[in-house]
Amino acid sequence: MSKSTYFVQECPTCGRTLEIRVEYLGKRVACRHCRGELVASDPAVAPASASLTSSALLRRANELLELSAQRSATTQS
Ligand SMILES: [Zn+2]
Repeated sequence: MSKSTYFVQECPTCGRTLEIRVEYLGKRVACRHCRGELVASDPAVAPASASLTSSALLRRANELLELSAQRSATTQS
């Protein structure tokens, strides 16, 4: 029930792939590989991350959550 939705982002410091929870979109997170700091941003919505507003990030997070809810609903039949 409380399964989190993740998106994948590449660490700008070590280049490895990170799974970041959608609730961290737009926030500072630490890479679990190199502990470097980065700002979580879904590449699908952040072609120009500098101009991205937090409301856009929130909207994207909601979209991802809805998508995962729809997926789990359809796989039950
Ligand atoms: Zn890293």
